[in-house]
Amino acid sequence: MIEIDHLTKRYGSHTAVSDLCLTVEPGQIYGFLGPNGAGKSTTMNIMTGCLAATEGTVRIDGHDIFDEPAQAKALIGYLPEQPPLYLDMTPLEYLGFVAQVKGVGREARKRQLSRAMEVTQIEGVKDRLIKNLSKGYKQRVGIAQALLGDPKVVILDEPTVGLDPIQIIEIRDLIRELGKEHTVILSSHILSEVRAVCQRIMIISRGKLVASDTPDNLEKLFAGTA
Ligand code: ATP
Repeated sequence: MIEIDHLTKRYGSHTAVSDLCLTVEPGQIYGFLGPNGAGKSTTMNIMTGCLAATEGTVRIDGHDIFDEPAQAKALIGYLPEQPPLYLDMTPLEYLGFVAQVKGVGREARKRQLSRAMEVTQIEGVKDRLIKNLSKGYKQRVGIAQALLGDPKVVILDEPTVGLDPIQIIEIRDLIRELGKEHTVILSSHILSEVRAVCQRIMIISRGKLVASDTPDNLEKLFAGTA
């Protein structure tokens, strides 16, 4: 579903992502694990077509994000680290607005809005102003907007940062739900977080791939028993 081929991103003399190669199979929940500054957001921003690569390619379901941006972007839903929520709108108004911006037609819009609100369980707050919602609900609204356009791939950049333990468990459950119908990429700097929901994990450090495997194999590898 996703092929990252020899991807490199340089900012001047600083290399943020270095010769990264990765394949994500359809239906996988795939974790990007690494400390702050490892290159997770940079990789995600390139995968979503928000940032140009210095070298290398990213293909989404066979479509090159640089050569066929419209086809590739149509397959992706993205929750950035700081989603641009309009705080003075209600979730219903905001999601309607995002659907329109994404070019979703009126009939499909109704269906997609209702599915996005159902999956993220925000129907009960859909008419309240976003600024009055808890952080957990704001994040659900962010995830709901990523589902508009019926993407095959959902990319979530550190979706649990700043949430309390209960909200974190709820967002994890939601990510597992998303994994039933989408290929999901989840970034985090917390091992237990990706371990809890991901079938595969890549560990990235200073822009370089350190390892990519199942959570169990990675645990054995780092325990020295593999
Ligand atoms: P975090 O968890 O803190 O978001 P990350 O793993 O997502 O970390 P990135 O944000 O991708 O890491 O950053 C990778 C490296 O690239 C860091 O050293 C960062 O300082 C650098 N970097 C990111 N954006 C820019 C930019 N616009 N200009 C220069 N350097 C940048």
